[in-house]
Amino acid sequence: MADCIFCKIVEKEIPATVVYEDSKVMAFLDVNPANKGHTLVIPKNHYETLGEVPDPTLAEISIVCKKVSKAVLKAVETTDFNIVQSNGEISGQVVPHVHFHIIPRFKNDGLTLGRLNRAPYSYGENEAKEVANSIRQAMME
Ligand code: AMP
Ligand code: ZN
Repeated sequence: MADCIFCKIVEKEIPATVVYEDSKVMAFLDVNPANKGHTLVIPKNHYETLGEVPDPTLAEISIVCKKVSKAVLKAVETTDFNIVQSNGEISGQVVPHVHFHIIPRFKNDGLTLGRLNRAPYSYGENEAKEVANSIRQAMME
């Protein structure tokens, strides 16, 4: 879809730190992370909300969420995480291209459900690249 920021990432028209990509699904680091390693998993096709996603694609997204979340946990050295998926403006969805947040959790990180997108973690110089490399590496192990 022409004006969709995530479609532009899929088309490589704008940059993203991609950690996983296949023919239907893509995963990249959230540009305004709630925690180190915060990753978004999206279908490459444009669907606005969960109900529009064809079942086979949803199955693939789930499998990618499982695989990528394991790698994220390994990369940022924690064991716990939330998957958050918002549908519609009232729910807090800002980007109208369906996406699953994988948010690693750390003891006493101060995040609560309402603040998951609003307690930004700041990556140091090159740190996002290093975290993404660790995630990609962990997926190959
Ligand atoms: P939501 O509120 O569930 O729609 O979440 C949208 C998420 O997309 C937010 O956490 C943003 O930080 C993230 N985001 C927006 N633009 C980009 C981008 N260009 N690259 C990576 N993440 C983005
Ligand atoms: Zn889109």
